[in-house]
Amino acid sequence: MDLKKELTGLLEQKGKTLENAADQDLYYALLTLTQRVQQKNTAPSAGRKLYYISAEFLIGKLLSNNLLNLGLYDQAKQVLAQAGRDLSRVEDFEPEPSLGNGGLGRLAACFLDSIASLGLNGDGVGLNYHYGLFQQVFEHNQQREQPNPWLEDQSWLTDTGVRFKVPFGSQELESVLYDLNVPGYENGVVNKLHLFDVTQPAPAPEQGISFDKGDIAHCLTSFLYPDDSDEAGKLLRVYQQYFMVCSAVQLILREAEEKGWSIKRLNQHAVIQINDTHPSMVIPELIRQLLARKELGLSMDEAIYVASNVCAYTNHTILAEALETWPSSYLEQVAPQLMPIIRELDKRAKEKYADPRVAIIDDNDCIHMAHMDIHYGFSVNGVAALHTDILKNTELKHFYDIYPGKFNNKTNGVTFRRWLMACNPALAELITQCIGEGWKRDPAQLEKLLSFRKDTQVLDRLLAVKSDNKKRLSAYLSKTQGISLDPESIFDIQVKRLHEYKRQQMNALYAIHQYQRIKAGYTPARPITVIFGAKAAPAYIMAKNIIHLILCLQKLVNEDPQVSPWMKIVMVENYNVTLAEELIPAADLSEQISLASKEASGTSNMKFMANGALTIGTLDGANVEIADLVGEDNIYLFGALSDKVIDLYARNAYHPEDFYGASRWIREAVDFITGPELSAIGSMDKLQALQGDLKGKDYFMALLDVRDYAKVKDQALWDYEGRRDWAAKTLVNIGKSGFFSSDRTIQEYNRDIWHL
Ligand SMILES: *Cc1c(COP(=O)(O)O)cnc(C)c1O
Repeated sequence: MDLKKELTGLLEQKGKTLENAADQDLYYALLTLTQRVQQKNTAPSAGRKLYYISAEFLIGKLLSNNLLNLGLYDQAKQVLAQAGRDLSRVEDFEPEPSLGNGGLGRLAACFLDSIASLGLNGDGVGLNYHYGLFQQVFEHNQQREQPNPWLEDQSWLTDTGVRFKVPFGSQELESVLYDLNVPGYENGVVNKLHLFDVTQPAPAPEQGISFDKGDIAHCLTSFLYPDDSDEAGKLLRVYQQYFMVCSAVQLILREAEEKGWSIKRLNQHAVIQINDTHPSMVIPELIRQLLARKELGLSMDEAIYVASNVCAYTNHTILAEALETWPSSYLEQVAPQLMPIIRELDKRAKEKYADPRVAIIDDNDCIHMAHMDIHYGFSVNGVAALHTDILKNTELKHFYDIYPGKFNNKTNGVTFRRWLMACNPALAELITQCIGEGWKRDPAQLEKLLSFRKDTQVLDRLLAVKSDNKKRLSAYLSKTQGISLDPESIFDIQVKRLHEYKRQQMNALYAIHQYQRIKAGYTPARPITVIFGAKAAPAYIMAKNIIHLILCLQKLVNEDPQVSPWMKIVMVENYNVTLAEELIPAADLSEQISLASKEASGTSNMKFMANGALTIGTLDGANVEIADLVGEDNIYLFGALSDKVIDLYARNAYHPEDFYGASRWIREAVDFITGPELSAIGSMDKLQALQGDLKGKDYFMALLDVRDYAKVKDQALWDYEGRRDWAAKTLVNIGKSGFFSSDRTIQEYNRDIWHL
């Protein structure tokens, strides 16, 4: 297609030209044009169809992604450049969709991209949140939450006109179905992301993110993960979940009718992947709707059989607090029609397995959502090899003993289209010049890069690409957040949700240690820039205290004339996909330092690797597989192994005092948190709470590993000076990253679970 002609035509309707249109006009024109092209594409029609149900889809901006997948990206860039325009500035006008939270939601987005790109028949199903998780702003060195309205009159969403009735105990609501197109990579395929919404969504709260949680009819889709510290908040989550699954099942049965599938044999035509436990009620709801269709004449046995062969479950965490349970009284209130089915499912499970640890409804009349998924789903998968092993041997051992055949591993992946081709075009170009275009469809071919390990010309170009990306990031952060960086320094980046198990606090302790050394006159070989980005859940006090510590350190360090030439600390505001796409291509060191056994997989570790950053990490989640692939010379490993950590928990044998007292620098760094320098900047209450926790509890064992961490990090910073050796290590990482393409992950899901 002649993009220039079409674009000019669209602009003419508004009396504009390519040269004089505002960037915003160009954005809307490109959006319209892209949507038109997508309309001509079609969904794959053959075979079984997948419905990927998830509370989150962290999809990121769509313009570049969709242009790239439709094969229009280069042309668009060129046409704009010829008119003196810049695609990246046009993109600035696109608000990032606010439909996700962290890795789990980003995984769902990468999966949709891979499913379409592999030409498979599969749609996403979720909710259309109006104000997202929240937008993070920093004030007085603290996180404050604001609504993040992202929906505009003209957007990528289209109203399908489809409406369903959702019966709640108190009232009946109507759900509105919006669709987003999900184009495959240069294959003419377009799948859908289906997002359900209420008919009359409430306007954004005037201040902050609190709102009337009882106003279900208007506020159900206001926020993702609304505060659930009180009962109204917990009930709202159940309302959201039921609204999502009740609508989803109606959509699936409607499509089944349209396509002439036999609903009695729905399992031959459809598969539902349950992404974590938020959509778990889809199982009893499917059974309920099947039984409600009296014309089918299904018995309870048959309905359960169908649902159990349609639904499969992905487990994303072993953190006990994240395995959802709901008091049955909540479900009685929200969706009373579901409780008889759940009680029947529970009764049948108890008849077969008396062990109370595998009960769906426990002695306190609480429903364990994951247990329902495991008994009545046909597949249970973990998201990295180590995580799946821990599920089988520890967390879900009682289930593995009864259903060994259901358990399987699917190591996560990321789409290289967004996370390499689009976000790092200079690296993509260098790779193509070395090994040709094949890797773009088959990232396993990146392995061919390994033959350039000793090619000094290629290594130097790799360093030059990284250096350019660091300059670009510096310019971006200067423009958007008023932060100035030194591109000659080492960019050491930890970006991910804030959680104690991810141990941003350990990284901060290293920064304090470095500060103290510089103050004492020991300067490093080269300056370091420690970059953080993280949102904390609004009710998670300790996580907010860690953000406070980092922001106080940022101020202290950056304003100290003796220290700042050697170290800068930067916490970027409102970390999201757009920022990730700027940060990751510019990283030298990728911080993946969770307490071993706690990070199910991680996916930012994969993105960093593919963009030529070296990992400093524990043997946790997919880091284990990264280490296996690149070899120990090409990764910086440290810390206790998962077996040891699991054993320490089992024996209640970890005491942070032992580690605080055993090393002088650790004591000095921990003491510094409440010393005069930081208390002059921050809130003593918060800093004391954080320090007290580290010394007295330290549930995620930062002090256990911090010594080894500092030693290995010092080594990494030293190794960085051997520039070509460092470049060779990054080359190995890029070359071995192909395994972590989400195309590979999806092929495995399809081969072992979905059979589309
Ligand atoms: C990839 C990604 C994540 C996941 O990061 P982890 O380090 O794997 O937890 C979270 N947020 C955003 C914006 C991402 O792009």
